Amino acid sequence: MKKINPEQAIRDVQHFGEEGGVVPVIDVAATSTFLDPQDMERTFQGELQGCYLYSRHSNPTVNIFGKKMAAMEGAEAALGVASGMAAIACSIEQVFHNESHGQGHMIASQTVYGGSYALFKNIFPMRGINVSFVDILDLKAVEAAITPKTKVIYAETMSNPLLAVCDLSGLSAICKNHNLKLIIDNTFAPMIVQPLQYGADIVVHSCTKYISGSSDLIAGAICSDQKFISSLIDVNHGSVMLTGPVMDPRVAHELYLRMDHLGIRMAGHSKMALYLAKKMKEEGLTVIYPGLSEHPQHELLNHYGAKSVGHGGVLTLECPTADDARVLAEKLQNEKFGLYAVSLGFSRTLMSCSAKSTSSEIPEDERKKMGLAEGLLRFSIGYTGDPEIMWNRFLKCYKS
Ligand code: PLP
Repeated sequence: MKKINPEQAIRDVQHFGEEGGVVPVIDVAATSTFLDPQDMERTFQGELQGCYLYSRHSNPTVNIFGKKMAAMEGAEAALGVASGMAAIACSIEQVFHNESHGQGHMIASQTVYGGSYALFKNIFPMRGINVSFVDILDLKAVEAAITPKTKVIYAETMSNPLLAVCDLSGLSAICKNHNLKLIIDNTFAPMIVQPLQYGADIVVHSCTKYISGSSDLIAGAICSDQKFISSLIDVNHGSVMLTGPVMDPRVAHELYLRMDHLGIRMAGHSKMALYLAKKMKEEGLTVIYPGLSEHPQHELLNHYGAKSVGHGGVLTLECPTADDARVLAEKLQNEKFGLYAVSLGFSRTLMSCSAKSTSSEIPEDERKKMGLAEGLLRFSIGYTGDPEIMWNRFLKCYKS
């Protein structure tokens, strides 16, 4: 399979401003005029496509951001939405709507972002979707969990926070055999992996993370074929159109501009993370980072494309207890190594104790089963700072 070059593909999406500006203008209009009143009726009846109608349906600035996202993922089309959670909820519900009148069963990886876990466990059953959580690396267990009502398999390319990399081709083969849709959350691996190239049907992103890069906004995106993306904004059946978590055009414009340097930023995150992970390993610490050769899916990630951009910015360190993790994080914050905050993809390092924050929605016994230790400290390594100075700050805190 010929791999796409996401950096070149993003670069080649180019839109000019109204007077030939090198960047596009922001189209903030909430509603658009129809010169022929009949065209408005035909648009509502689904007979006419491509007209701007109302910004909850589509917006020119959100659309050009979608073109950059689609280029990065090698997708036919993409839609910007209000958050990563909106991307996850709307894409899954749309599949169930399109395929089985909104009802059914889905299989999800047991290690997903805590918010996704809570959505699947606590909200989806009320909406007619029941979820089985499985070890996504165990393809036999995945297949065994399929029921006649199953419509979707859901996983994260690189799981949050355990950093296990899923076997996209293996999951895709199961989906093809059983006529299911494979939905992949690629938030941790933009530019590194293009899941659609390995058989995923839909890719979702929390653009709040690397794609923003500045921890200053909340946004999401859904990438897939044109038919699926159009179904999300259908005036009668679209989950985004009718539940309403759309992307603001001002946010879309910010993200459109930032995508041109996403590749450079990802490479910067990866370089600093690899440097620190190697130093931690030499120091004998329990560090997990997919860029280390002993990581169980190191070669798989290389195969997907990590060789050019690296293996991402997230690493984890296992401290003996949650208290040890908190104490270390506090020292690191005081020493200006990083900030004790959830989220990832910021230019500076962010640290959080997963079991006490972004995975706290997963019950303790299930966290234990999946190997998520209470003392696990997750680092989203920033690309700013001198690597040696940052390491010396880390070591000073760790040893004190
Ligand atoms: N997916 C992953 C892997 C995440 O880590 C997060 C948030 O941390 C989300 C989705 C949700 O994204 P958002 O906060 O943009 O709604």
